[in-house]
Amino acid sequence: MSRPCRALIDLDALRHNYQLALELAPNSQAIAVVKANAYGHGAVAAAKALEPLAPALGVACIEEAQELRAAGIRKPILLLEGIFSSDELNTAANEDFWLMVENLNQVEAIVNAKLSKPVLCWLKIDTGMHRLGILPEQLDDILCLLKSSANVDSDIVLASHFASADELENPATEAQINCFDQLIAQAAEASTLAQSLSNSAAVLAWPEAHRQWLRPGFMLYGASSFPHPHVNGDRLKPVMSLVSEVISLRPVAAGESVGYGGNWQAQRDSVIATIACGYGDGYPRHAVNGTPVLIDGQEAPLAGRVSMDMITVDVTDLIATTDIHIGSHVELWGKLLDVNRVAASADTIAYELLTRMPARPTRIYS
Ligand SMILES: *Cc1c(COP(=O)(O)O)cnc(C)c1O
Repeated sequence: MSRPCRALIDLDALRHNYQLALELAPNSQAIAVVKANAYGHGAVAAAKALEPLAPALGVACIEEAQELRAAGIRKPILLLEGIFSSDELNTAANEDFWLMVENLNQVEAIVNAKLSKPVLCWLKIDTGMHRLGILPEQLDDILCLLKSSANVDSDIVLASHFASADELENPATEAQINCFDQLIAQAAEASTLAQSLSNSAAVLAWPEAHRQWLRPGFMLYGASSFPHPHVNGDRLKPVMSLVSEVISLRPVAAGESVGYGGNWQAQRDSVIATIACGYGDGYPRHAVNGTPVLIDGQEAPLAGRVSMDMITVDVTDLIATTDIHIGSHVELWGKLLDVNRVAASADTIAYELLTRMPARPTRIYS
């Protein structure tokens, strides 16, 4: 016997979603983004599953890249935020880490370093998100600096990142694409270089942004970046199923309340199922009463505040038709219950739910 809360990870689904990205963008290659512990799924396992398919992987920082190297991953790894200090440069060059270069400090550190071999650089341009990236007016000079440096591999990639690609009606994405394309058209040295614009939302919904290199992250894990159903979202296969079991069942009389603070009150004589999964297992504490929970494949509403180790669910309407018992199977999100729905009930996004998954629920890979 052991506590039944587990994260089941379907690596075939992960590979399927990567292939779907390529299918949607048949003229592109794709960096498989496995930052933040592969969005909570386990970076090493995800990288090992994707390495045979992907020409390169993407992580946020050198520590994440080194974890993959230590586990035997050999493909190039793009550091999406580049270096944080110049002492990372030799490791990056030696380990075949590609560097996002997004400000003049990073450019100067690279061209002034003494490197045993050149590093491959992705030059990120701020086309409107205003978080990272060189300013458009810096492009000519910085490209010149990089191209004339022996420390820089000649295969520079020009990149930018979208602020609102998950909003189909938002004109910001077109504006960013136009800004990028106009800059490239004007910069003498830029026209022959490969380009990269697309995160998951753009892979799914903005074909004009596909270019040579995609950077899908979230979609690889099988949920759509669009919180509402979107045309290609239903082709994704969820990778993580957070599952557990009913560990207790009880009648609760009308008027009685349930859980910490008694914030759910029975409007009728009810049956409450207690499930071994709480915020200590990554289930969002802010999930409201009514958040869907799947018990033996049937939806039932969350009833009462999420505790550290448990939640309580109103199964009154289920017991007439379903044999709910201690040990009944529960899915908190996953194959049958879209994590986006749980996120919406907790006033957050599925990215956060998956990425914040703690180590506590054992990951079981298949
Ligand atoms: C995280 C990240 C991505 C992946 O974004 P998703 O929305 O998860 O697909 C792509 N590019 C950059 C620069 C990132 O930091």
